Amino acid sequence: MSSQSEKVIIIGSGYGGLALGALLAHHDYQVTIYEAHTYLGGCASFFKRHKFKFDAGATTLSGLGAGRPLHALCQLLEIEIPTLHLDHPMRIHLSDNSIIERVSNLEEFITTLDIEFPEVDNRKFWYDLKDREEKLWSVLGAGQHFPPKGIKDLVKLLRPKVLAKAPLALWAFTPFIKTLPKEIRSNTRYMDFINEQLIISTQSHANEVPALLAAMGLIYPDDMYYPFGGISTLADKLAEYITKRGGEVHKRHRVTDVSKNKDVFEVTGVGPLKKPFNKEAALVVSNLTIWDTPNLFKNELKSLFPIPQERGAWSAITAYFTIKSTQPITPLYHQVHIDNELLGKGSLFFSFSHPDDRERAPELWQTVTVSTHTRSEQWISAFESGNYDQQVQEVKELIRKTFNERFPDKNIEEMGNIEIGTPHTIQRFTNRHKGLVGGLPHNLKNNILTFPAQETALSGFYQIGDTTFPGQGIVGVTTGAFLLAGKLLGKNFLE
Ligand SMILES: Cc1cc2nc3c(=O)[nH]c(=O)nc-3n(C[C@H](O)[C@H](O)[C@H](O)COP(=O)(O)OP(=O)(O)OC[C@H]3O[C@@H](n4cnc5c(N)ncnc54)[C@H](O)[C@@H]3O)c2cc1C
Repeated sequence: MSSQSEKVIIIGSGYGGLALGALLAHHDYQVTIYEAHTYLGGCASFFKRHKFKFDAGATTLSGLGAGRPLHALCQLLEIEIPTLHLDHPMRIHLSDNSIIERVSNLEEFITTLDIEFPEVDNRKFWYDLKDREEKLWSVLGAGQHFPPKGIKDLVKLLRPKVLAKAPLALWAFTPFIKTLPKEIRSNTRYMDFINEQLIISTQSHANEVPALLAAMGLIYPDDMYYPFGGISTLADKLAEYITKRGGEVHKRHRVTDVSKNKDVFEVTGVGPLKKPFNKEAALVVSNLTIWDTPNLFKNELKSLFPIPQERGAWSAITAYFTIKSTQPITPLYHQVHIDNELLGKGSLFFSFSHPDDRERAPELWQTVTVSTHTRSEQWISAFESGNYDQQVQEVKELIRKTFNERFPDKNIEEMGNIEIGTPHTIQRFTNRHKGLVGGLPHNLKNNILTFPAQETALSGFYQIGDTTFPGQGIVGVTTGAFLLAGKLLGKNFLE
């Protein structure tokens, strides 16, 4: 039986919470996870309609390549999930109706770009990015000591292995746009292509994102996978692992209050049938956003958690429908550029279930999840002014029209109803403040020195997830789980 100091309560079962829980369970911690929703996975969860299973938010997995965080996690825990590495991860439909095939083989991709943009030295540009990206992954372990909080961290950061990569730090504070050759900067189509890739991976455009993060954000399609059974497959496996190691994962358990008496926390909440629950532990980790964590405290501890600013965080619009066709749509991921009155200049990201994925859809059918960025305020004010339903209808029409225009000749026999998710929907299902998702945008303001830390002002209480260091996406929060587990266990998983 574990001692009191080895008990940990994690509030929320997003990928950050689950990955951390599994890592700690692997090291014999007694892990309890409370999840408010019926399903696990938070922003990377799912819902069902009849015979169909839809990814609710996130749809793509990356970071499963050798040596990358999800690969390291699965190897360590001996977890296997059925995935398909995507040789052709994405088709990009530019606004002039032309298409760029984003293939994972860099040579092949450069050949495509050379035809589209012969005036640009694509080889040099993309190999430089690749080099920067690989160097960054290789020093990820240094993130555990960053930003340095004392002499011990400084010593770790001043080791030759880390110092050799010190020039990378410069790229962390240089806007990507400044590093772009003028042939790219002056080419609207190239810039649109880059900007729309960056907004889905870093939540920022080229003029805001640091050059270092831009490299990761543009190279990630090389390491993209389709998860059979949907994006939550790995979440379920992590929960299974935690329970196998003696831990507990409670769905439909909403935590309402955290208090502390001497060195012991008491976590209380409401379970199914409004049944109250409570549990004690010396260690508590919140997988909520930095804006929601303060609401867990009702007493004097609240003053330790001033509610932070939103720092440019985005929300999302999502849409879901099914299609029946004798000719399935591939590749499975499409980014379609749009310039729309309601949503502005941006893109719609269409994700199709694999035609052989029988967990997601019956034969000949595919489920489709569409997502795009939006500002939460636009939907709050629509709600207040009574325009909400009309805006939802406008989005529905846009999705239908875009789909019909950009995916012609596919012998679509049937197209199911389109359901729309707005920031309100996201807030309802994930409890995230104003439905803000995707974490904090990586930009020059939210940089490696100013990103919210996992440590808090309250000893024994930590935060994990996409609004804390190192940030967003399943791969980002999993990296965060390695960093926090490393700090708690006094070891470095990523070196
Ligand atoms: C539309 C969309 C598309 C995306 N696409 C991708 C993609 O393709 N690939 C990718 O890698 N990332 C993608 N992302 C981002 C990615 O999904 C998130 O960054 C990541 O999943 C966030 O994980 P997290 O650990 O921060 O927790 P979250 O996902 O925020 O989960 C937190 C959990 O805490 C629970 N919770 C909240 N309050 C309480 C409470 N009081 N008590 C108990 N439980 C509580 C919530 O119900 C939730 O399950 C996308 C996000 C969105 C919204």
